[in-house]
Amino acid sequence: MNHINKIEHLGIAVKDIEHANALYEKLLGIPPYKQEAVESEAVITSFFQVGESKIELLASTREDGPIGKFIAKKGEGIHHIAFDVDDIKKELNRLEQEGFQLINTTPKRGADNKLVAFVHPKSTDGVLIELCQEITP
Ligand code: ZN
Repeated sequence: MNHINKIEHLGIAVKDIEHANALYEKLLGIPPYKQEAVESEAVITSFFQVGESKIELLASTREDGPIGKFIAKKGEGIHHIAFDVDDIKKELNRLEQEGFQLINTTPKRGADNKLVAFVHPKSTDGVLIELCQEITP
């Protein structure tokens, strides 16, 4: 059984969502299929479908939000890698037992109809990892 199915998306931190939408539309030759605010994270997100994976653009709605802080520290660029999993709780348990430091021990509702949880970059050689599981009705 697969633990991790695929790279679901790459999250990219941007300062200006409208500017980045236009840029990625030009780059990929397709418009975003969705734009969505996630209030709990203080972000506006845009999604582009690229084959079986996606690009998620993230812009902060507040300077002190997680993306605002990231850009202040590191500038714009790749923010996280998201892996698609079938059973997010099981994967969180597995990663915790493997010694990874979890930011979220319980999955929360993210953008694009997903349950999500993050693994701390301190425990992954500097890469913020997101696990996500499609919410099925
Ligand atoms: Zn993401």
